[in-house]
Amino acid sequence: MDTKWDVIVMGGGTAGLFAGIASARQGAKTLLVERWGHLGGNIATGMNLGGFFDGRDHQVVSGIPQELLDRVVKRGGGLGHMFFKNVDRWISSTASMDPEIFKHVAFEMIQESGCKLWLYTSFIRGFREGMLVQAAEVLNKAGVLRLEAKAFVDTTGDADLAASVGAPFERGGGKRQQAVTCIFRVGNVNLEPVERYMEERINTEHKEPWKFLNAPLRGKPKYWTPWKVFPEIAQRFPKLFGVYYHGTPGDIFINCTHTAIDSLDPEDITAGTMRLRKQAMEVTQFLKEHVPGFENAYLTHVYDLGVRESRRLIGEYVFTVGDMISEREFDDVVGMGAYPPDLHDATGGDILIHGKGWGQASIEEELPQEQELPYNSGYQIPYRSLLPQGLDNLLVAGRCISATFEAQSGTRGMGPCSAMGQAAGTAAALAVRTGTVPKKLDVSLLQKTLLKDGVLLGRRPAGT
Ligand SMILES: Cc1cc2nc3c(=O)[nH]c(=O)nc-3n(C[C@H](O)[C@H](O)[C@H](O)COP(=O)(O)OP(=O)(O)OC[C@H]3O[C@@H](n4cnc5c(N)ncnc54)[C@H](O)[C@@H]3O)c2cc1C
Repeated sequence: MDTKWDVIVMGGGTAGLFAGIASARQGAKTLLVERWGHLGGNIATGMNLGGFFDGRDHQVVSGIPQELLDRVVKRGGGLGHMFFKNVDRWISSTASMDPEIFKHVAFEMIQESGCKLWLYTSFIRGFREGMLVQAAEVLNKAGVLRLEAKAFVDTTGDADLAASVGAPFERGGGKRQQAVTCIFRVGNVNLEPVERYMEERINTEHKEPWKFLNAPLRGKPKYWTPWKVFPEIAQRFPKLFGVYYHGTPGDIFINCTHTAIDSLDPEDITAGTMRLRKQAMEVTQFLKEHVPGFENAYLTHVYDLGVRESRRLIGEYVFTVGDMISEREFDDVVGMGAYPPDLHDATGGDILIHGKGWGQASIEEELPQEQELPYNSGYQIPYRSLLPQGLDNLLVAGRCISATFEAQSGTRGMGPCSAMGQAAGTAAALAVRTGTVPKKLDVSLLQKTLLKDGVLLGRRPAGT
């Protein structure tokens, strides 16, 4: 088994998939390591991809993520980008993608790129000498293997590799904590009565429900609050309820289970997963009993634990909500995103997002309390937020980059995570090719390469 690589990408999820493809396409001998039996991590749980377009419908994420999305849609695996008509200033579009067709296309693209993939392989620990990560130990059916590489990309979501070699990181947000969730999939739903019911009974607190402009999405009003409709059983359920539909009749994905845990504690994640699976069963039963259209529905899948935040790198730059909402321009921009701050309260099931929500959440960043988030900004992500302090040949991409607790609630969106993945993989490969380390890489060379590969480093007006 080959143990010497140019680039090792640790974690084949949202960011890691694109890092692996990008690195291999640049000609680097690349290994992608993933603990599960499929690629995509949280992108493969049936949620809509957010953060590709800003509130003015300017595209900010393209490149390999857009290529993948196009291929999935071409195979009938989703409705692609969908634009909202009115969303109370929060998010302006999301992309629908079926997770099973995605997984298939992800394998195809990894194979075509020449990136070597090891599934069912878990990262154990890294080894460091001075400013360099020398090696990483992984565990699979062949035993414990020591792998060496010239550059490493940590896309584990939890910054496992970075933390293991002593990169500084933070956790949490003061008293606030984001909930973990198991998304679940329900089949054989008669969508027409469900949609009608939601239109009639949805509690929008006098706001117009969310509507898609260009897609025949069932369950148009995306969120509703069952407990206000059924006060007698309300307290047993999380407050918010998201329904996602990717074009297969009768088949929906539900985002509503919530619990508070320490997502790095093995006992907690086990107990949390059990609680969330129970919630998925109960909510499905509740829908069958109370909501027209669910009479013959059944639970088809409960996805693995979805973690919104754990470790956050303290890198060469810490990205802030201020940077995000002011659309600050960075000389070292390597990707963009438009997924807005999105904090899911761990205990009450509330989503603390815009305007008043932020006030209640008592934002601890430098943002003035009274300032409302502008309508879905398209923000630049600086290269320095992917670079750990004190290590030269390691990049971090995905939800664990260097950002404040509040800013991470936006950069964790799949659009920005995908863009960061492509940037990190490209950077690692370019560093190897030019005989340097990612920390010392010529950023203008990286930017030119990314632009050539279709990455957006500025906002692209729709239709151009
Ligand atoms: C419930 C929920 C709903 C969400 N809804 C949306 C939404 O609607 N729209 C949106 O845009 N975003 C949404 N997000 C956010 C977004 O999906 C994630 O933040 C993003 O996908 C994270 O990408 P990532 O690459 O950092 O991590 P992941 O996609 O989780 O990838 C990490 C990968 O690393 C692997 N890994 C971890 N540890 C190891 C190890 N030790 N060894 C080997 N492999 C390892 C994992 O198996 C996984 O494949 C949601 C998040 C959650 C939790």
